[in-house]
Amino acid sequence: MGFNQKINDSMNNMSRSVTTQMMKDAPPDLTYVYIGPVDEKTRPFCLDAASQGALTEAQILELGGEYAESLVSGGGINCRHNWELASDDIQSQFHRGGEAQKIIGEKVNKLKAKKDILYSEVLLTEKSIRNNKKESFFAYDKDGKVIFQKKGTESHVGFTNFDLLDMKANGVEVLTHNHPTIFKVKNATFSYQDISLAMKYDIPEMRAVGKDRVYIFRQGKDAVKGGLKWKEIEKEILNIFDEGEGFWYTDKAINSLYKSKKINDYQAINMYTDKLLKQNAKKYGWIYETEPI
Ligand SMILES: [Zn+2]
Repeated sequence: MGFNQKINDSMNNMSRSVTTQMMKDAPPDLTYVYIGPVDEKTRPFCLDAASQGALTEAQILELGGEYAESLVSGGGINCRHNWELASDDIQSQFHRGGEAQKIIGEKVNKLKAKKDILYSEVLLTEKSIRNNKKESFFAYDKDGKVIFQKKGTESHVGFTNFDLLDMKANGVEVLTHNHPTIFKVKNATFSYQDISLAMKYDIPEMRAVGKDRVYIFRQGKDAVKGGLKWKEIEKEILNIFDEGEGFWYTDKAINSLYKSKKINDYQAINMYTDKLLKQNAKKYGWIYETEPI
């Protein structure tokens, strides 16, 4: 930390402590605004705080730990922002709430546009591979660029650990592949290999496309992985697929479809596994979805 930065930080902190001292003795209905310059480089917290408008001390604290801290140290080291009493003067001269909202809006739109590009590329590929008799894999980065592809593999895991580490290094965002129709299963959900690979290599989104549906697997924020060792996760996932294969007949609805010969046993296993994945997604904080394609 340079000398000037230290001086700036301590001056800003001093001015903040004047405000917090004042808050202590002030009536609780007084409001404050987060003031200071705002531009594209302003850190996300400061943009957010500046966009809030006038808040009482209680409202600021309600917004969470980062906000409570900001009363003392703003958005962190080198922060030029500060909570000040929301007088007309201060608001008109130093509060950049409108600009902050505009910049946040632009950032959100840019992210959305990137996502739109990514998913339009992914869907285009999925539509082109969904009827293939062999599996193909495509990995995309955030910008919708293909960073890895493997076509025509017969088995589920058609790539090496090296391929996967490489994908990770190149910022894989979505890994999609097709599940060819076998034993009349037109839309086969994920295999054990699919799910375990997504979890082991932290692939944000795994997709499997069948004849007219796509299955989507994401690890949510509270995913089980946080608390478990890989060996334990592996066992949990294996249990799900073992149960799907071994105990599908315990599901009354599926069993009656099977008995009336509307579905074969492979279709029954697929239906039950789909059900189990749905149930376990809730339990483990995964996102498991399916969409028509
Ligand atoms: Zn698969």
